[in-house]
Amino acid sequence: MVVASRVKKVVLLQPASAGGNFEYIAIPRQGMLFLSGALAQWEGEYLYEREIWFEDRCGVIDPDKDLEGVDILMVTALINEAPRGYQVARLAKEYHPEILTIGGGPQMGPLSEEAFEHGRFDVIVQREAEDIIGQLCDILLTRSTGERNAYLEKVPGISYLKDGRVTQTRRSGLINPDFVELPDFHSIRDLTPENPMAGGVIETTRGCTESCTYCQVIQQFLGYRLISRETEVKRLAQLTELAADGLIHSRNGNFQVFISDDLHTPPLRAVKFRDERLARLQAWKDHTQNMYMICQARAEIGQDLELANAMLDANIKMAYVGVESDNAENLKLVNKRQEPGQMHTDLTTMNDMGFSIVAMTIIGLPYDTEESIMELADWVTQVSRYQTVNFLTPLPATSNWDTLVPLNEHGELLAEGEMRPYHLYTGRQFVHQDERWTMAESRDLFDRYSARLTPVDDLYRRIFRILRNYRLRLASTSRDLGDNITSRLADATESLKSWSDPVSMAGREFGENISQRVGELSEKLRSVSQPLANARQEVVENIGTDVSELADSLKDLSGPVNDGSSDLAANISSRINDLTEMLNTVMSDSRRGRTTGD
Ligand code: SF4
Repeated sequence: MVVASRVKKVVLLQPASAGGNFEYIAIPRQGMLFLSGALAQWEGEYLYEREIWFEDRCGVIDPDKDLEGVDILMVTALINEAPRGYQVARLAKEYHPEILTIGGGPQMGPLSEEAFEHGRFDVIVQREAEDIIGQLCDILLTRSTGERNAYLEKVPGISYLKDGRVTQTRRSGLINPDFVELPDFHSIRDLTPENPMAGGVIETTRGCTESCTYCQVIQQFLGYRLISRETEVKRLAQLTELAADGLIHSRNGNFQVFISDDLHTPPLRAVKFRDERLARLQAWKDHTQNMYMICQARAEIGQDLELANAMLDANIKMAYVGVESDNAENLKLVNKRQEPGQMHTDLTTMNDMGFSIVAMTIIGLPYDTEESIMELADWVTQVSRYQTVNFLTPLPATSNWDTLVPLNEHGELLAEGEMRPYHLYTGRQFVHQDERWTMAESRDLFDRYSARLTPVDDLYRRIFRILRNYRLRLASTSRDLGDNITSRLADATESLKSWSDPVSMAGREFGENISQRVGELSEKLRSVSQPLANARQEVVENIGTDVSELADSLKDLSGPVNDGSSDLAANISSRINDLTEMLNTVMSDSRRGRTTGD
């Protein structure tokens, strides 16, 4: 029997993003799922009860209320999520001085000093940590601050503070990528048939066979490592089960699966890995009939028809392809082994075979000019169905981090000791000094370039719309009380939430932080549902109308940018304020017993 004190509560947090690669809002990143799985299988001093909190999915965490009774908080963050990650970790310590905090991910690993300073973490883990996380948690829970360091220094691949200075332990060797066989989807907060994932996600490799200079993946995941064939099949079976249980959204039994490998199909020259992938894909057919799969690949599969056909047979119908640039000098400079002319031929072949291609482009490379960037847009839209775009952005641990001169949020040179404006590290503007474009000019260029594309965000907007309709249908069939005003308000709130993600995904917040505030507003609406049920009908009706109109405006804002978008964002922002005030009044009236009206 488990003794109560042996059970410890862990919250694994992925903070809200400030934009960037938005499809990841629809599809969870898996770092926390594997760490949670590692804690589940750990056999040590304690049993760990886990909750994985994706702020983009579950709404923002309240470090005071939501971390009450939690023993350990773990935070991972990409670069533009880092400020929020630091904030939550810092507040966690302020509200709950006993809580233990662990940071990690591609930002905090290489910049652990910054993470200690701004997030006040106890420990930062470097790179992957499934094999040490159980041991680390046990040490933090059992050893007092004074004696802890003697134990921490034996844990490989972590940083901690020793006499006020950051100390890092060495790690040799790489983690077996299927150390945790099955990601722990069941610990995701609020994952229910009423609120399923938009699609499944599967990891079959870590790292990459290539070495592009700007890439952070190869810094975070060293070496190209495949999970075993058996684990692959088990993970596919897990997804089928999740879909059958309603935890992945499906239609007529079919559902989407995003293969999160940074390079699922190795190029022909990586013979051993390529042959292995081919054999696996040929065996996948029996396990993926109900899946519509999406992967990241190189255009070179257009020259490897055997592999390309195996992908199609396994139901991989959509491929994200790193096009980056059509300028040969740029490609050479970033160590991208590809020829522009060959790229065109390969993409044409892939299109003809029936792949739906998402071309990932990077602008602002050293040989780019405004003219060449616009030409890239014209070309890339001919050879791909959807596109993504990012400005060249320096990322920690890549060579650009030290060589490109950073700017502050006003586009001026960053002062000594000033923190970089991470919320702008979304790929939508230059965050470093460049003699061709200022930060503001680069933003303008980004908008003009994007306007020529068919953004993949359009696709995800559609997925969110489908999910929204699904949720609304579900809500209306499961209602006991019929179509009363409060249930209509609940529908409107659902609709509101479902449009805030596309707005954030499409980067249409115009500095108004709309997605986060809509999350807070929805939370407030939920918390006032009882007082609202007793409030005067016209009050509820007014609120219901305002919420519906707000949802409509969010829908407009998630569409293509136009001259009025920025004003609309400001207008939405002020209406959120008005609604919040109205709800506060309902709350205080309720407390004063005035909810039934005069
Ligand atoms: S191919 Fe993609 S994942 Fe691999 S190094 Fe280049 S950018 Fe990174």
